[in-house]
Amino acid sequence: MAGSGKFFVGGNWKCNGTKDSISKLITDLNSSTLESDVDVVVAPPFVYIDQVKNSLSDRIEIAAQNSWTGKGGAFTGEISVEQLKDIGCKWVVLGHSERRHIIGENDQFIGKKAAYALSEGLGVIACIGELLEEREAGKTSDVCFQQLKAYAGKFTRAHKHTHTYFLSPFPDAVPSWDKIVVAYEPVWAIGTGKVATPEQAQEVHVAIRDWLSKNVSAEVASKTRIIYGGSVNGSNCAELAKQEDIDGFLVGGASLKGPEFATIINSVT
Ligand code: PGA
Repeated sequence: MAGSGKFFVGGNWKCNGTKDSISKLITDLNSSTLESDVDVVVAPPFVYIDQVKNSLSDRIEIAAQNSWTGKGGAFTGEISVEQLKDIGCKWVVLGHSERRHIIGENDQFIGKKAAYALSEGLGVIACIGELLEEREAGKTSDVCFQQLKAYAGKFTRAHKHTHTYFLSPFPDAVPSWDKIVVAYEPVWAIGTGKVATPEQAQEVHVAIRDWLSKNVSAEVASKTRIIYGGSVNGSNCAELAKQEDIDGFLVGGASLKGPEFATIINSVT
């Protein structure tokens, strides 16, 4: 753990579940003993957020899996940040690789959504990560830095917008960075069972922290939690959690199984 605050574990349920299966998952999570020194967040599909909010223990916060770039209105099919806050969401997952590579969202659009969510007080789980061919071409850092830059540029502008002072392109201690968790999720590891080795993950996390230090501020670099995602499960989490710069996990498939998700949450001990 290198970032400040608690170890952070998010469960990304993606487009999975029914009222019944989610009710069972909630029962399992409510009866699990969870390490107190871990921030835990789950991201249900939008339509089940209310059900989860009403029955899941307050110990676990709720994230949305997407949000709109600005205030609601005539945007068919979208969900606004204000609506998410209204039903009790505290976080939103943005820039997930499935949204980038299946839905076609680009850096600019993702950055805009992230900046708006932050400006309205939601925490943002800001995902980045390279494709297999990018890793094989030695471009992992370039891709991650490019995606980080798109977030950072927008966060800075959001900051500029709400404050009268503005000293540098990436001013120190931009307040909104407090509510950002960076999720490094190599695309080749997501849902494939091919987890990054602890060394591979650690190497990229160090590079991300270094980028934050050079391009945002040393303070933001040392405080920001950088979490790993991609085939994390109950068996590989403990080794990954031991890495100095892994400050938590974003978990897909294994977060749909209550006892296994609890094992991952408790892997920090
Ligand atoms: P996975 O998904 O754990 O199923 O690989 C991770 C994610 O997409 O966040």
